[in-house]
Amino acid sequence: SSTVAGPAVFASAAYPYQDPTLPVPTRVADLMGRMSLEEKLGQMTQAERGSVSAADVTTYRLGSVLSGGGSGPSPNTAASWADMYDNFQNAALATPLGIPLLYGVDAVHGHNNVVGATIFPHNIGLGATRDPALAQRVGRAVAEEVSGTGVDWDFAPCLCVARNDRWGRTYESFGETPELASSMATIVTGLQGAVLNGPASVLATAKHYLGDGGTTGGVDQGDTQLSEADLRAIHLPPFRAAVERGVGSVMISFSSWNGAKLHGHQYLITTVLKGELGFSGLVVSDWDGIDQIDGAAGTSALDVRTAVNAGIDMVMVPTAWRRFIDLLRAEVQAGRVTTARVDDAVRRVLTKKFELGLFEKPLTDRSYTATVGSSAHRALAREAVAKSQVVLKNAGNILPLARGGKIFVAGKSADDIGNQSGGWTISWQGSSGAITPGTTILQGIRNTAGSATTVTYSRDGSGIDGSYRVAIAVVGETPYAEGQGDRPGGLGLDTTDLNTIATLRAAGVPVVVVLVSGRPLDIAAQLPGWNALMAAWLPGTEGQGVADVLFGTVQPTGKLPMTWMSSASQQPINAGDGKTPLFPYGSGLTYGQSQDDTSPPTAPGTPVASETTSSSTSLSWSASSDNVGVTGYDVVRVQPAGETTVATATTATATVTGLAANTSYTFAVYAKDAAGNRSPRSGTVTVTTRADGGTGGCSVTATVQSQWSTGYVIQVAVTNTGTS
Ligand code: BGC
Repeated sequence: SSTVAGPAVFASAAYPYQDPTLPVPTRVADLMGRMSLEEKLGQMTQAERGSVSAADVTTYRLGSVLSGGGSGPSPNTAASWADMYDNFQNAALATPLGIPLLYGVDAVHGHNNVVGATIFPHNIGLGATRDPALAQRVGRAVAEEVSGTGVDWDFAPCLCVARNDRWGRTYESFGETPELASSMATIVTGLQGAVLNGPASVLATAKHYLGDGGTTGGVDQGDTQLSEADLRAIHLPPFRAAVERGVGSVMISFSSWNGAKLHGHQYLITTVLKGELGFSGLVVSDWDGIDQIDGAAGTSALDVRTAVNAGIDMVMVPTAWRRFIDLLRAEVQAGRVTTARVDDAVRRVLTKKFELGLFEKPLTDRSYTATVGSSAHRALAREAVAKSQVVLKNAGNILPLARGGKIFVAGKSADDIGNQSGGWTISWQGSSGAITPGTTILQGIRNTAGSATTVTYSRDGSGIDGSYRVAIAVVGETPYAEGQGDRPGGLGLDTTDLNTIATLRAAGVPVVVVLVSGRPLDIAAQLPGWNALMAAWLPGTEGQGVADVLFGTVQPTGKLPMTWMSSASQQPINAGDGKTPLFPYGSGLTYGQSQDDTSPPTAPGTPVASETTSSSTSLSWSASSDNVGVTGYDVVRVQPAGETTVATATTATATVTGLAANTSYTFAVYAKDAAGNRSPRSGTVTVTTRADGGTGGCSVTATVQSQWSTGYVIQVAVTNTGTS
């Protein structure tokens, strides 16, 4: 066992490191000059709450404590969390140098360990919003709730680029492309605030470095077999984006790259992350992650020196923290870990503690405790939920649902806060049931449907008959986290769900399927029998946002953050890989787009092939000479002879045919003057109909609101913007 050779207790006289007016590097240098090796080892150590006492924090000078996924039951209320935090923090302050500790949690979709906190959509849903500013606002709200319990450090965001839906952590990813995941690094700014010692600033963690979402077979903690060029192109950009936003910490991935464990990867951690990317924050290992380095169970000297020498600064050793300290001390004394490396690690840890203002404000700011689960945060979560809904099928425009008459709601996730929240909610794996306060999807539907609508619910669909206008089946996955959610076999619905939907269909009632899942599921065989499909992802506690979109209170705008497989055997399937998906990456209907076929669309950027234009006033069409790039400009009105100006609200109507199915287009009005210059005009374009399928057309009405000069031609520009 270790002994603590602490320095003599200092008098309360102010040392330079205690002076908040001095620059952080000066304070760090002063403090480090006063620290023993034992105190430095403690700063590199993170122990798990249930395996450490407050007295241990004082005795061993521990730098950090966490409540991790693998920790036992958490306190029940925000206030008791704050009490727990303050108890540990006071123990850290009782050390001779009074160095505050960093308390870390996984607040990965809200402060999800705390009963009563606002639970936001998991990252996959935020990715569907395509709204980086929203992600930043979510981060700010999470930081306030986390601050209200004292906690300083959030092991979020997960910036993994999930490439295989079999992976049990797919829902922790913002999406399958580096561009999408990178764009959502705004959440770092939300969590940390503009400056780390600002109001309710929480240290963010970009995780898991590197390539966790790219493992072969989508196996959690598996091996990512990629060339360095592909690893950098696919998995590195979100970390670069987070570093550019000043992310305070980076967590190392359990996974390997071409057989080499990331926890021992000096090249990727020190050369690439700290060197090339210029990351100056602290690198933390994952839960017992260093133990996997030598392949043998438990923490070995080899594990310790390889991890620390690779560049890990703080080591998450939940239970074996005493052993870790002993081993690291021995490695340093033997010269296998240099004191320079230890000093670099401690400098990085202390720098963040100073930057966070912990030396000045170590205890919980209880003014934020009341924000935990506040109505303002729940309203934000509801907004995020609504924006994350992705409508994938809407035959006959059954959505948005009208109010009135009788509707039937069924499915195992219709009335279940636990199911709609998924893993990492109250407990690590999450669980079904009323695990924390919130609004279930059923309650949301009842609220929105109003008293004019009869809403009948049964979990399995029993009791339905032909008198109902529509049935809503809320089905999908039950909670899981990490490797326990890996699905190496089928990716379909379970028999409970299939039976529920079959019961609804047997009544002859149109069925709207709301899928509550952490990833796309293999549903191609069932889809033809469903009238509508909406991917709700894992929305969290505010199920009202799902109902908002079902009833059209909010228009659907969500776009698929993942390519949707046609069959599980296609995994991995990603945009641009040449496979034929059920719904391409980026799919997502808005209301008014009736779409009941699922034929493959043309690839994004394919020119509009053969549109023809007719108009009541159209006199000529010269699309071939006017086509520019992917945009076809169709003449819909040529100024008639003798007209010198266009009256306000002159209207020209065109029917555009030849548009591909499942493809979105934008329409815009241009004028071309006598000299041949084309310029955008402020006319409006209304797509009044959009028939189904590749042969369908749409009617475009261009209403010209300004007076145009003599010799104009009104054109409608049709641009293929990709898949819808
Ligand atoms: C997970 C991390 C998490 C850590 C602490 C690990 O199992 O991989 O994402 O931050 O536990 O709970």
